[in-house]
Amino acid sequence: MTKVFSGMRPSGKLHLGNYLGAIKNWIELQNKVSEGEQSIFAVVDYHGITTPFDPKTYHEQVMDVALDYLAAGVDPDKALLIRQSKVPQHTELAWIFNTITPVSWLDRLPTYKEQLAKSPKYNHMGLLDYPVLMAADILIYKSNLVPVGEDQMPHIDLTNEIARKFNSMFGETFEPVKAQMTEGARIMSLQDPSKKMSKTRDEGIALSDSPDEIRKKIKKAVTDSGKEIEFNPDKKPAISNLITIYHLLSDKEIKDIEKMYEGKSYADFKSDLGEVVVDFLKPFQAKYAELKNDPEYVLSVLTKSEEMARILASSTLKEVKEKMGLK
Ligand code: ATP
Ligand code: MG
Repeated sequence: MTKVFSGMRPSGKLHLGNYLGAIKNWIELQNKVSEGEQSIFAVVDYHGITTPFDPKTYHEQVMDVALDYLAAGVDPDKALLIRQSKVPQHTELAWIFNTITPVSWLDRLPTYKEQLAKSPKYNHMGLLDYPVLMAADILIYKSNLVPVGEDQMPHIDLTNEIARKFNSMFGETFEPVKAQMTEGARIMSLQDPSKKMSKTRDEGIALSDSPDEIRKKIKKAVTDSGKEIEFNPDKKPAISNLITIYHLLSDKEIKDIEKMYEGKSYADFKSDLGEVVVDFLKPFQAKYAELKNDPEYVLSVLTKSEEMARILASSTLKEVKEKMGLK
């Protein structure tokens, strides 16, 4: 039985990387999931507070990500859409997992090191523990399929390590978890193609950016030396990233894109790519604007889903606690 779980931090506006690396797969999976199976998509607001955030705007940011999900096509008739902090069983299971997870499994993870480099003062337990909470997010629903971008692979491996350790200590409880990635599993930053596009570490193209902002950001994107519009991620990482975005949003093959721009300039290519992105995001933005006017609807989707999620989550937690003698 397929049980899908995935989430995003409300750490900023969702960007093209989030869409192409993860949400695109969410929509495909939710549509495939048949009767009795389940898809759960979360705004992981307890993960969001592990890096600097503004309490005055945080609630709005959380609701905005929920809105982004709905505008991108998450269908409340097919999937549950929840806020992590509204299902306390996630954090309860995370505490239990904390007691079986060696610190040495956590302080070697690349995401921890990267976030720490960005905000050195935020060196706290929550940042280190982030992947344990993520393991709990997934396993509390006994999910087995997690559509995420490539950067999350170490966390999925860790989830499986924790699950195996729990099973070996307290008896068979959790099944192995598989990550599912898209072709756009790693969209790179437009300013530095050696890093992934990110909400907190880089200015990406937000799904809600206006057409002019999008055109401007693409125009300013760094390019490689040489003039050819050529796909070669090792030698030409910047233009290859832009070609990938063009390919994924236009359904044109990479080879055909290279042919179309033979003898043309980066400026020509970028100006067309700007239009490809603007056109692609139009339906999303129309839906977004419509939902923005109906906050009650968004809230009602969340609260209904969360009620159901708490029922599913408490059943796993009960089993876990019983196995541990916490009756
Ligand atoms: P932050 O900088 O706050 O960590 P983020 O942009 O990395 O934000 P997350 O909320 O951490 O976004 O991740 C949400 C999902 O989007 C994850 O599945 C992640 O793998 C995916 N994702 C994030 N960035 C990219 C990217 N550049 N390319 C492809 N997928 C991505
Ligand atoms: Mg991230």
